[in-house]
Amino acid sequence: KGYIENRPAWAEINVSAFAHNIKSLKKFTSSGTQFFAVLKANGYGHGAVQLAKIASQEGVDGIVVALLDEAIALRRAGVKVPILILGYTTPAQLPILAEEKLTQTIFTRKAAEELSVAAVASGKKVKVHLKVDTGMSRVGFTALQGLSDLLAVARLPGLEIEGVFSHFATADEEDKSFAYYQLESFNILLRQLEKEGLQVPLCHMANSAALLEIPDSHYNAVRAGLAIYGHYPSPASATKIDLQPLMTVKAKIVQVKKVAAQSPISYGCTYRCPRATRVATVPLGYADGVPRVLSGKIKAYGKGSMICQVGRICMDQMVFDIADAPLEEGDEIILLGQGSEPKALPELTMEKWAQLSGTISYEIMTGISNRVPRIYR
Ligand code: PLP
Repeated sequence: KGYIENRPAWAEINVSAFAHNIKSLKKFTSSGTQFFAVLKANGYGHGAVQLAKIASQEGVDGIVVALLDEAIALRRAGVKVPILILGYTTPAQLPILAEEKLTQTIFTRKAAEELSVAAVASGKKVKVHLKVDTGMSRVGFTALQGLSDLLAVARLPGLEIEGVFSHFATADEEDKSFAYYQLESFNILLRQLEKEGLQVPLCHMANSAALLEIPDSHYNAVRAGLAIYGHYPSPASATKIDLQPLMTVKAKIVQVKKVAAQSPISYGCTYRCPRATRVATVPLGYADGVPRVLSGKIKAYGKGSMICQVGRICMDQMVFDIADAPLEEGDEIILLGQGSEPKALPELTMEKWAQLSGTISYEIMTGISNRVPRIYR
């Protein structure tokens, strides 16, 4: 712990931006629509425990995680709001669900039957949400053939069916036709369930993109992830709402040295300084979540100067050409995010890193590894 706390590289998490994003997003839903904050994968890398507490203060109706262990960690930290687990929970762990008052997603009849048996044996009913696959072809009872299984699950004695939900594959794309096809499939299934007399209190489908762009998908609950962390799920959504990114990754320069023209930098000597210059070593690398494919492509900002990273990114360190920038050993630089800098830093966004490494901002933020201490302010 001491090693991590003393490390001159860290991620600052802006907690008031988190509260601002939740408040702003809630305004997109009608009153009475429940708001679930998606805090899986350690709150998309921002820290689930700390953010769950703020989300609870902001009055969210529930928290969504992927794994039982993520849910248990939140309960152990004193988080009291309902927690929905999206992923598979093994039968051996099922008693914990009732003990910790957790809500489990159910997507197969077999898992539902096993859970019901465990619940009956423990004398406690377990709350479940039924997952319907309307087009992702991932987990879920298929909307077209799943009706009889869903009805059978609903009759199991150990389960309390609190919710039914589905998930969009393309809500963030400009062409919403497949999203509307999924929505229609879900509506057909909901009408069938209703006709069969199955009343389910909660119904939800919207992720961040659908929350902002497909109001018909709100039903009586929404599940927002990306947007609560201040990132836009699509270019169109950026025109609708002001979101503030939470994370700024900073580090202190640990060494500055003068190098001659043609000096090689880092593994493989793939980069040679075109002229005599000054280089700075920064103690962050690919084991911290800076993708190695970004070698030679990223920038950082400090004391009014934008500097370029050169040579291969190593496991724990990387080098910047600082030339005549007024930077010295011990100076703080921003690698990712905006911090409290008044000047816009578009080169340092998660979206820029994602674009340069051929991925999405979700992977960049969840990739900032847990050896980078998070500081909440
Ligand atoms: N619902 C489910 C089932 C998810 O898997 C996710 C994220 O992957 C979300 C909601 C949140 O999506 P987003 O982060 O795009 O808001």
